[in-house]
Amino acid sequence: SKSEIGLIGLGTMGAMLSLNIAEKGFAISVFNRTTARTDEFHAEAGELAERITPCSTLEDLVASIAEPRAIILMVPAGAAVDQQIAALRPLLGKDDLIIDAGNANFRDTEARAAQAEADGVPFLGIGVSGGEEGARHGPSIMGGGRKEAWAQVSHILTAIAADYEGTACATWMGQGGAGHFVKAVHNGIEYADMQMIAEVYGIMRDGQGASAATCAGAFEEWNKGALQSYLIEISGKVAAATDAESGNAVLDIILDRAGQKGTGRWTVIEAQHLGAPVPVIEAAVAARNLSAMKSERERGEAMFGAAPVELASGALSRDDLEQALIAGKIMCYAQGFHLLNAASAEFEWDLPMPEIARVWREGCIIRSTMLNDMADALTAAPQDNLMFAPFFSELIERSAPALRKVVATAITHGLQVPALSAGLAYYDAMRTGRSTANMIQAQRDFFGAHSFERTDKDGAHHGPWGS
Ligand code: NDP
Repeated sequence: SKSEIGLIGLGTMGAMLSLNIAEKGFAISVFNRTTARTDEFHAEAGELAERITPCSTLEDLVASIAEPRAIILMVPAGAAVDQQIAALRPLLGKDDLIIDAGNANFRDTEARAAQAEADGVPFLGIGVSGGEEGARHGPSIMGGGRKEAWAQVSHILTAIAADYEGTACATWMGQGGAGHFVKAVHNGIEYADMQMIAEVYGIMRDGQGASAATCAGAFEEWNKGALQSYLIEISGKVAAATDAESGNAVLDIILDRAGQKGTGRWTVIEAQHLGAPVPVIEAAVAARNLSAMKSERERGEAMFGAAPVELASGALSRDDLEQALIAGKIMCYAQGFHLLNAASAEFEWDLPMPEIARVWREGCIIRSTMLNDMADALTAAPQDNLMFAPFFSELIERSAPALRKVVATAITHGLQVPALSAGLAYYDAMRTGRSTANMIQAQRDFFGAHSFERTDKDGAHHGPWGS
């Protein structure tokens, strides 16, 4: 009998996704550019091998899948996706669906969806989060494209997705590139969550002289409270790990140069296009870029001397740091959801805000208890800034003083807290009814005759600047 679905690209993610699909009871056909990998994968599939059909040509793959076919692409984003689509389409029927499940830039997905639309063939772009482990045992899935195309495969996607108390973490987000856009924002938030944790780790390590084991203790403690999340949990675990060879904390021997694949950067670029402020995410992306400038940083340290980062004992408590992280996290998500709302309006996606928070509750890297409260807040007021939801406004009132104390103390000691300070600045901006943009407007009118509005009269006005 024929397979219910096909998959191309048996790399890290594709292999794990295929095993997940087979384990959930679906017959799947797989193809990989390098055939040896296909055979190796099938040989290692154990008892799941009987539900997996290895194919050495695209023709075999297509012939082995029941119609209307659905084929998942799990190849690197960019040219490889276009190459695979171009190779596959001539072999497929009009109703056969191609699903790009890699980390595509949503603009590429929009273009591919438009092309598919013009050709009258179905196409989906789905964001899959949760890394290798998620792909194997239940990722978070953010779908985009035609709703009918999603309906064709949603029974498979919901079956393989992570489960949050009986709800599958797989949702159709909207037309075209909506799914990949939501995935990019997920990754932007992920960068920010990670950066804020790293900043607090820096305060403990450099400001308080804490060992990696002590930091691990703090993360373990925080993981029992409002910050309960996968990223806090693994931060505790990585801080607790010991290098078998040297006996040192693994964290202490890891080079301080962070990589990135670009999705955080896309989030920031799209936010700029949309005029949606996401300063916490911007700070996190910039911090990764700065981390890559290791030799320049060393040169700077030799030239200017390192900042005297040591804090007086008791200057910041563990509770202060926890509260600062809570406040920073709320600011970050308020910005992320604002960006999603702005994109939803601009691209006419009608993104399901509470559903986005719900699919992020399990399976993905940013999963956390707080997302459940965000889902509730967004159900009540999907378009409203998360800061204004009663649950979060109360949490902010309790935690913002600690954020200010932590940021102020860190800055006066040369400890870097760019993402936390961006969160604090956002909070202060968002509670300033009268900003200083009157000065900007006056300057713009002075040099460019751009005109300004007045507080006391309607209409456009010019200043008495003379000529
Ligand atoms: P890998 O590098 O592990 O695997 C890439 C796969 O794509 C291989 O099977 C490779 O085949 C195939 N491939 C590469 N180039 C081409 C091409 N031009 N034509 C056909 N096949 C090609 O990648 P991952 O599994 O890590 O990532 C796949 C996608 O999933 C990417 O878009 C990635 O961003 C995304 N993703 C990855 C996550 C992760 O944690 N790794 C998490 C979420 C999404 P061959 O064996 O012949 O080289």
